[in-house]
Amino acid sequence: MPELPEVESIRSQLEPLITGKTILNGYSFPSKKFLQAKLSSGFLVRDVNRRGKYLIINLEKESGRKINLKELIVHLGMTGSLSVVEEKSDDPYIRAEWELNDGQILLFRDIRRFGRIAVVDPGDYKSLPTLDNIGPEPFDPKLSAESFYASLSSSRSCIKTKLLSQRIVAGLGNIYVDESLWRSRINPVARRIGKERSETLLISIREVLSQAIDNGGTTFRDYRTPDGLTGKNQHNLDCYGRAGKACRNCSHVLKNRIIGQRSTTWCPQCQIS
Ligand SMILES: [Zn+2]
Repeated sequence: MPELPEVESIRSQLEPLITGKTILNGYSFPSKKFLQAKLSSGFLVRDVNRRGKYLIINLEKESGRKINLKELIVHLGMTGSLSVVEEKSDDPYIRAEWELNDGQILLFRDIRRFGRIAVVDPGDYKSLPTLDNIGPEPFDPKLSAESFYASLSSSRSCIKTKLLSQRIVAGLGNIYVDESLWRSRINPVARRIGKERSETLLISIREVLSQAIDNGGTTFRDYRTPDGLTGKNQHNLDCYGRAGKACRNCSHVLKNRIIGQRSTTWCPQCQIS
């Protein structure tokens, strides 16, 4: 599933391709999850933002003296991708398309249909509960070691589950949680970690995500940026996908188990509770 670095790579490529263009018509596959694509018809694209794993395309439309603002929200799910093309496609996995005023078409392709499209008033995320309750962006300067420690301490779930919840910090999924916990030597089932280790974890999260963004994201299966290319961060992973191999810190064999229904890789020797 695309996580923050993958969605950020998509955002930065998509923004110059669609900003300033008007959506003439939006169409979608007949599923509740995509139907709102058509509500963006007639709107101009102001810019493309991101919050956690959600793309937020800011829209405006003049009606009389008023300017009507909306947000077109795209969650890529497991297999979603966006591209801007010159001609219509008969690809059966296209779930939504938006005709732009310069003749180009923005396509949303999603094989497994875990993605989601919504058009909402700015900031009105009631229909998207995860986004509505999302925690701070990992690089937000207001996210301090103290506030991170305080929100980690407010729940008794294990640390892996807390980080996946999106409520403590936005944008992490299975890959970058496993990488961050490995880098900070914290066992994924730890429930309480002290102030000092919380700070180490926050630093690790920021390092792991920055490296992944610099590498254009991690490519597994269906991840593509709008230019059709894939990321190369999979060559820089130290923990995720390395179960059975030697830990790069202590040489012990990395293990794998299910935690909170998610496959988890960790080093039983150097990642302590
Ligand atoms: Zn180790």
